[in-house]
Amino acid sequence: MILKDRPEPLELRILKLLDARTELEEKEKKYLHNKAKGYEGEKMFDLLTGKLDPPSYLLHDLLLESNNSKFQIDTLMIRQDSLFLFEVKNFEGDFYYENGRFYSLATNKEIKNPLLQLERCESLLRQLLQSLGYRMAIEAYVIFINPKFHLYQSPMNKPIIYPNQLPDFMCKLNRKSSTLNGRHKSLAEQLVSMHQTESPYEKYSKYSFDILKKGIICAVCHSFDVSCFDRHVQCQVCGHCEGLDPAVLRAAEEIRLLYPKEKLTTKLVFEWCNGIISKQPIGRILRQKFCVQGSKKYTFYV
Ligand SMILES: [Zn+2]
Repeated sequence: MILKDRPEPLELRILKLLDARTELEEKEKKYLHNKAKGYEGEKMFDLLTGKLDPPSYLLHDLLLESNNSKFQIDTLMIRQDSLFLFEVKNFEGDFYYENGRFYSLATNKEIKNPLLQLERCESLLRQLLQSLGYRMAIEAYVIFINPKFHLYQSPMNKPIIYPNQLPDFMCKLNRKSSTLNGRHKSLAEQLVSMHQTESPYEKYSKYSFDILKKGIICAVCHSFDVSCFDRHVQCQVCGHCEGLDPAVLRAAEEIRLLYPKEKLTTKLVFEWCNGIISKQPIGRILRQKFCVQGSKKYTFYV
């Protein structure tokens, strides 16, 4: 049973929008790529854990704190006798392991050691469980989910599951019986309630409304070459046609996501769409979807 789902991370959604409307810094582009890839891998693993029969509580993407240290859990599975902690990696390509370190074969550069990440996470989780009065065993694994991943000189006796081992590993998990009681549920609920969120807005505050490229982005091919006809907008590149209402609401949601403190007004959405859609239909569509606050020219929507 999924007690905490895995929505697309806010930071990833923000970065994707910014990437479409401005030139991101090189390190931000890389970060966006890695974050999107990581999320994709986690969703792939969710498909596998979601198919398991024995009762368990599944908690996805938790940010917890123990002894003043924050730690992030990709997937936590609560079973009868133990907790399964999974660190999911969607690395692609060839890597090698040497003297306890991981390197990319293509660049020869050392990468963040997922085993150390897992160890830290497990230790902090154990301390947190103790402070909550639970003494359950923790089984922790690094899951390499991408079928195109290969690790040369891979170490034995490390808690790593490689892509080709995943089917057997999941079968084994499926064979272990499990019965859950109120204590398990209470633990799961406590952990979910302790989940923290970090606001990414500070980090990207330099991308103000004024500097982003304006216009309607095609929902399919992300081109700005979109024209407005009577009651719809049409992409001049791929031909995708979208009703006026969803196009305006999409633009409004983009503004709300990127600038949550900004008052949503007809004028703001008009500017965001680069004047492609006139103010009258924008106002009508916003009135239908949002609550109207203020009056006359000070009207805004919440
Ligand atoms: Zn298009």
